Amino acid sequence: MAKVYVNRTLNLKRIHFIGLDMDHTLIRYHSENFERLAHSVMLEKLIREKGYPSSIGQLQFSYDRAIRGLVIDKRRGNVLKLSRYAAIRVSYHGLRPIDYNLQKELYQSTYIDLSDPNFDKVDTSFSIAFAGLFMQLVELKETTESKLLPDFVDIANDLNEVLDRAHRDGSLKNQVRDRLEDFIVKDPEVVQRLERFVKHGKKLFILTNSDYEYTKILLDHAILPYLKEHKHWSDLFEFVITSAQKPRFFFDKLKFLRVHPEDGSMKNFEGTLTKGIYQGGCASTFTQDLKLNADEILYIGDHIYGDIVRLKKDCAWRTALVVEELQEEIEKNHQAESLVQKINVLMDQKIPYEQELDQLISKKIEHNDVTLTQKIEFQTARITEIDRQISPLIKEQQKIFNKYWGEVMRVGIEESYFAHQVERFACVYMAKLADLLAFSPRTYFRAPKRPLPHELPFTES
Ligand SMILES: [Mg+2]
Repeated sequence: MAKVYVNRTLNLKRIHFIGLDMDHTLIRYHSENFERLAHSVMLEKLIREKGYPSSIGQLQFSYDRAIRGLVIDKRRGNVLKLSRYAAIRVSYHGLRPIDYNLQKELYQSTYIDLSDPNFDKVDTSFSIAFAGLFMQLVELKETTESKLLPDFVDIANDLNEVLDRAHRDGSLKNQVRDRLEDFIVKDPEVVQRLERFVKHGKKLFILTNSDYEYTKILLDHAILPYLKEHKHWSDLFEFVITSAQKPRFFFDKLKFLRVHPEDGSMKNFEGTLTKGIYQGGCASTFTQDLKLNADEILYIGDHIYGDIVRLKKDCAWRTALVVEELQEEIEKNHQAESLVQKINVLMDQKIPYEQELDQLISKKIEHNDVTLTQKIEFQTARITEIDRQISPLIKEQQKIFNKYWGEVMRVGIEESYFAHQVERFACVYMAKLADLLAFSPRTYFRAPKRPLPHELPFTES
């Protein structure tokens, strides 16, 4: 069943324009294949263009090595998973987990300052290939290839550079174009649901950082064959804005260029925007020319920073975020339920023991009563025994999720940093676009009341 999760109330009746990011939002990819492609393209470029030893070409891609939302400590060569307050909760150096005491020593239990240029948030596309390859190269540098590989900072910067170049020089695009079936998910239901929204008077537009040539290839492949009530995708979408340079699109004042649909040629565009295909531009001109209030536009994307965070900070469009990992994570939450229940039963036993222990220690301190020592030892042993039982259960529960990193949205009982951003910046979120479109275009998505800590049952003294 389609599910949409609501952070902030969103009334679709108030929405006149629905904007769609293309890659991973309107058009879904076979993500594992796509990340594998990025991994091999980056390796090839590191060898050919950056002089890395050809032996790194042997490194195998592993899809579960990394998850979305990790942070790279470029200076120390570590990869970190952070809590909502940016405290480190899981960390790796190369392929090896950093033990808790060393982590404490390295980072002094401080929160990570994400504005520090030594830290790189891996939240762009190909975050899995990027973080995974960084871990593999650090491992290699620490083991066999120490002299042949540059410093950790340079490895991270080189990876950024080759990935950026792979986007620009067509090394990724060309392979997708040649093997569309391997990379692109065809989903006729999305097209039908979009046509239904148009029937309700909603105007649709695409806003993508991909160029026109690539956009056309994907839309011809995944949208055009399934249109029933529109002749062409350019009829379904009022505007197709390509090479949009998000997040700059949301805060800068860039000009729109008009794109010729046949040959892709471009010319300067002056005057008020009308239906058609464009390149560049900015949110303020778009909103103004269409005489819209910012909150009459809903923008749906998959990239937390490029699509959502900057948008929310700089313009008042409403937002929906596609979190592809959500579906699997929810299924795994169900799988983990019986373990969580066992953990909760043990915790319910442990808490009164802890309270009793605190009282005994207090009594001992306040009355200098040494006869309590034995009771204190007994109580401590009881707690240790429960911890001994809880510990493997937690490990087992974590293994249901990614075996290295656990859940995408949580770290233990806290939210992950990624989940915190989703909560702050996305009005609603869901696993895929089709889930939102399955609802009536007249839906009122209401945010649930979130209990504050003082509204929850409390522990009495
Ligand atoms: Mg995208």
